[in-house]
Amino acid sequence: MNNIKDKFRNAMGRFSNRMYNFMVGRYGMDDLYKFLLYTAIFCIVLNLFVRSSILYFLGLACLVFATFRAYSRNITARRRENDKYLALTKDIRPFVKLQVRRIREIRTARFRRCPHCHKALRLPNRKGKHTVSCPNCHQEFKVTIRI
Ligand SMILES: [Zn+2]
Repeated sequence: MNNIKDKFRNAMGRFSNRMYNFMVGRYGMDDLYKFLLYTAIFCIVLNLFVRSSILYFLGLACLVFATFRAYSRNITARRRENDKYLALTKDIRPFVKLQVRRIREIRTARFRRCPHCHKALRLPNRKGKHTVSCPNCHQEFKVTIRI
């Protein structure tokens, strides 16, 4: 019994060693990789309902490009692509991040902007009218939360 366990453990160790050696010198994952992967998943799932060959090939192209980038050995070129992507999306990334967080924490929190300093505030999800004191500008304002 222990013999089988040891053999399995050794095989897993060899496999992870091989994976490690395979990834040495390769670029790996970054923000552009994540974006391409999410776009690919979005296109492929949407294609289940819409049935469009354009969506299918767009999703496939994103998947192939993301995989190519992750295994690429040309690290400078991949880093340049990622920097370009980050520069292009620097204005919309915080907005998207907030919307994702809004959905993820919908059961426990509500997000409102301070009317004075426009900073997004995370408020506990308690029904009713509340007075909120902004931790950024220390001004007070009224908030109504409906569940
Ligand atoms: Zn404020």
